[in-house]
Formats: sequence, C-alpha cells, structure tokens
Amino acid sequence: MQCERLIKQIKGWYFHVSNETMAPARMVSFIEKHAAECSICLADPDLQKEIERITEIILPESKIPKAVRMQQEQDELERRAADDDDEENDDEDDNDEDDDDIEDDEDDDDIIEDD
Ligand SMILES: [Zn+2]
Repeated sequence: MQCERLIKQIKGWYFHVSNETMAPARMVSFIEKHAAECSICLADPDLQKEIERITEIILPESKIPKAVRMQQEQDELERRAADDDDEENDDEDDNDEDDDDIEDDEDDDDIIEDD
C-alpha cells in the first residue's frame, strides 16, 4: 500500500468498524471507491491484493455465500425462539414508601384573647 491518504482513511474507518459504528461492508466499499479514483492507488500493483486481505480481516463472513449465511441466521433465530427462557423481569418492587413525614406541628393552644 503506497497511498498515505488511503492508509490514514483505513485507520479511521477501521476504528469505526471495531467500535461497530460502521458496517465492515461499508468500509470495504469506501476502500474500493478510493482505490478506483486515486491515481496513487491506481498505480499501486499490490493494492488489489491488500484490499482483499483487509476485506478478509474485517469481513470474514464474506467468504460464506450469502444464501448459506442467511440460512444460518434463520436457524439461529429459530433456535433462539425455541428456547425462549422465561426471563421475567426481576423488578422487585423496592418501593418502601418511607413517608416518615413527622410533622412537627406544635399546636400552640395559646389562644390569645384579644379584647
Ligand atoms: Zn489512494
């Protein structure tokens, strides 16, 4: 990889991918878009191979055909639906209403008769 700009961009994209704020497929398409437009990248004979390697790293499931992948996802969903463990919310009502409103009302029974 000879293009400094692409290296920098890849680092930035990879940061997002590892933080799951960007889809790996998106990163691959960004790399390919840059490579198709950049004169340095177009002249780089090893770039396509390196892009493939990066793709394999960030997008391992790209090796699996999409139909197979979708079937696996389907199976996974069905399995999850099957053992639907009754996770009841353990929301114990801890609302001890401690309304200790001790009113300090001093009843002054001093009725001052004002004549
Ligand atoms: Zn470039």
